[in-house]
Amino acid sequence: MANLYIFSNDLRLEDNAALYNASLDKNGLEALFLFNEKKWQLHYESSLKIRFQLNNLEIIKKKLNTLNINLRILSPRKFDDEPQSILEEALKINASKVFINSEYGVDERRRDANLKKLLNHNGIDLHEFDSSIINPNKIFTGAGTYFKVFTPYSRSFREELNEDYLQCFPEPIKQKTKIGESDEIPNFELGDVLKKNALKLYEPGEKAAKEILENFFKNKISDYKVARDFPAQDSTSKLSVYLSSGIISAKTCVSKLLEVSEDSPGTGEYSWFNEIIWREFYKYIIFHYPRVSMRKSFNEKYDQVQWRNNEEDFIAWTKGETGFPIIDAAIKQLLNTGWMHNRLRMIVAMFLSKNLLIDWKRGEEFFMQNLIDGDHASNVGGWQWSASTGVDAAPYFRIFNPITQSEKFDKEGLFLKHYLPNLKSLSSKEIHNPDTKLRKEFNYPMPITDLSSSRKRAIEVFSKI
Ligand SMILES: Cc1cc2nc3c(=O)[nH]c(=O)nc-3n(C[C@H](O)[C@H](O)[C@H](O)COP(=O)(O)OP(=O)(O)OC[C@H]3O[C@@H](n4cnc5c(N)ncnc54)[C@H](O)[C@@H]3O)c2cc1C
Repeated sequence: MANLYIFSNDLRLEDNAALYNASLDKNGLEALFLFNEKKWQLHYESSLKIRFQLNNLEIIKKKLNTLNINLRILSPRKFDDEPQSILEEALKINASKVFINSEYGVDERRRDANLKKLLNHNGIDLHEFDSSIINPNKIFTGAGTYFKVFTPYSRSFREELNEDYLQCFPEPIKQKTKIGESDEIPNFELGDVLKKNALKLYEPGEKAAKEILENFFKNKISDYKVARDFPAQDSTSKLSVYLSSGIISAKTCVSKLLEVSEDSPGTGEYSWFNEIIWREFYKYIIFHYPRVSMRKSFNEKYDQVQWRNNEEDFIAWTKGETGFPIIDAAIKQLLNTGWMHNRLRMIVAMFLSKNLLIDWKRGEEFFMQNLIDGDHASNVGGWQWSASTGVDAAPYFRIFNPITQSEKFDKEGLFLKHYLPNLKSLSSKEIHNPDTKLRKEFNYPMPITDLSSSRKRAIEVFSKI
């Protein structure tokens, strides 16, 4: 009897637990990709990320072919139809087992629970595997509750981690015979020239992801602890593009890291590992505190915040026309490349949710709609951290000043000049906050808000709750 494997955010052949286990019987295996535009719309997934995933799928299809595994592509009409589509396909190929790497978002967990019921009802087993390095149920506090603070979680993560968790699965095993032909990868055009150009920045495929990882370890990781905060320097890995679609696994990144270095505090390697643990932490949070995955604040009381939600301000923010160079350059980076530096994500998110007092969920949606590395858990986590509504969040009265952040992290204004070329003749002193005359001369907008009074307003609104 054949097996059926369902792709989720795991577009890879190496270290793919579900795919590898599905291949062990060697009696025929079909891989299924669900091309579900309604689901992507529901989750605000960006067209750039979808196109990038399809380019990766093209590479995967060729490789699967050599292993006698066919790739089927189905297009359920809506998210709720996925279990039925999977069941019908399993029945069609006479599968007795279906394999999947579980995702932790609320919708995905509901879908998998429905899928399990439906399959079992038809005598088919669902085999689920972890999509995180350590299953969220394995890490808890001394009191047996689940962590809400990163540092003790990360300590516990490191204590729990051992070689067993870091065993990476090889590629799937070649099947004796192929059970069907592969489908064509769907045509999904990027209408926007900006997005087409952004796509060219990222080479698809597992091979590309591994090369980026190796290059990062060889050339950048030792300086990471300090350099990671400066957006003009190419000092972070940019692996989020690959991790968020599962083109490389976090487990592969960590096991390769620990092969080449000790996990010693104070080093670039230790800091980078910490960031991977942040990623695991946010997955752990949506798993144990599902309200976070339901567009609600982790800290329930902040669901009552009276957001200002001024539409004009929101539009200016989304276009990079706020009159604050660091905010505008950061948004231009997002629109031009589909990626934004971590420090800038924090600065623009705090500016939107605090100075403009616009609901963080609007910013979170906008990020998802434009990021090539959009990741539900990390995005909601990052936004709620910045808006002070989340787990282990910045206190509400700690509000970054975008001008001083700019002076500190882009002192020479190199990043600003790259994304705001009309300001390139300004000096490193002028560029962070040009005066009225310079703004007029270089056709740059006036600030849309006063930093001091908008800061005060946000503190008042939050402190009342
Ligand atoms: C408001 C906001 C929204 C964010 N949205 C996303 C998102 O949609 N997708 C996403 O992958 N990351 C998100 N992040 C986290 C972080 O900004 C990116 O992961 C990081 O910038 C990716 O660049 P990199 O791969 O070069 O990271 P590196 O610095 O090389 O870090 C390595 C990996 O660690 C993980 N990581 C790093 N920083 C964080 C972090 N703060 N939280 C969680 N994981 C982290 C990522 O997987 C990253 O690829 C967000 C952060 C904020 C503040």
